[in-house]
Amino acid sequence: MADILIKGGTVLDPASGTETERDVYFEDGVLSEAEPREGVLVIDATNAFVAPGFVDLHTHVFNHSMFTNSRVSADRIGVRQGVACVVDAGSSGAITIDAFPENVHQTQATQVFAFINIGSPGLPHLGVGHASRPDLLDLDGVVKAFDRHADWLVGVKVLASQSHTGAFGLEAVKIARKAASLVNKPLMLHVGNAPPLIDDVLDLLRPGDIVTHTYHGKIGGVLGYRDEVIAPFKEAVKRGVVVDLGHGRSSFSFRVFETAMEQGMPLHCISSDLHQGNVDRYAVSLARTMTKVRSLGFSLPEVVSRVSNLPAAAIGIDQYGFGSLVPGLATTASIFREREGEVELEDAEGSIRQSRSFIEPIGCVVNGEFFSVQEPL
Ligand SMILES: [Zn+2]
Repeated sequence: MADILIKGGTVLDPASGTETERDVYFEDGVLSEAEPREGVLVIDATNAFVAPGFVDLHTHVFNHSMFTNSRVSADRIGVRQGVACVVDAGSSGAITIDAFPENVHQTQATQVFAFINIGSPGLPHLGVGHASRPDLLDLDGVVKAFDRHADWLVGVKVLASQSHTGAFGLEAVKIARKAASLVNKPLMLHVGNAPPLIDDVLDLLRPGDIVTHTYHGKIGGVLGYRDEVIAPFKEAVKRGVVVDLGHGRSSFSFRVFETAMEQGMPLHCISSDLHQGNVDRYAVSLARTMTKVRSLGFSLPEVVSRVSNLPAAAIGIDQYGFGSLVPGLATTASIFREREGEVELEDAEGSIRQSRSFIEPIGCVVNGEFFSVQEPL
């Protein structure tokens, strides 16, 4: 661990409304207002922004050797792309969750939290049928896992789509919601192809629950069939459900997103849903996903807020200093530029947009270490 001084950047901290030129100093791994000591590691952030360490709320990093065909390592999409913290969205369930620390926390520098899948095997191939039968749903096992892993389990995940829960979908969501109530954590709900119907599953969500893949382009999503936001989604938003992007391989449509925004719908969190199947194309990086949202009309502070204070608050890790730059508490920061230059952006439907600028992370600080970007963005 080194003391780190980030010099010459513009601090962009949406939680406190800060956007000002100022140096940022980490002493013994924690953000400090003290005078920097002699001989600290100096990072040049001239013409760059210094933000709270980016938090990617939806990824798949449970890199167990049984699952390497679908997962990526946390550092590949985390610190090596300028992202300080990633959240695994249900890659493990009650019978695999105990292998998480040795396969993730003990080998990766990126900070990792996780949702546990209500389907007991988790997602063996990010796929089929893992929560499609009563005997695969482990209410007891999921609830007890929170006793053993309270410091990094942040909620319960259910994939309410035909390919994951089959015809059993609505029951799977109910059991997952029950588990979330018992441990007093949010439920993260994946929406996809029916069954179950999105109308029915949205009605089960409570304030603070998270819907992910919200603006996918499949028939029967939040826009119904005639490009009108459906009432159950409007009501869920009104109740205080958190709206997450969850780009993925097939779950973000420029058209659906823009249409929903025009009708006053929100976006609270920008997440990538990165895994082996979309890290080379479609999602590629959290930064690329941020650039897409930026190009569709969000301001830079609005974009940064959706990868910092908003996701951190949604899963309660703001209390550990994630998502803001609070002296004495924050242990992470992401450094990035907004660069001029023509880029082509592709959504998960293969639709292409041009942008004249893009968000380019330079590196991040995690627990007294600086990591420079080393992977394609
Ligand atoms: Zn996912």
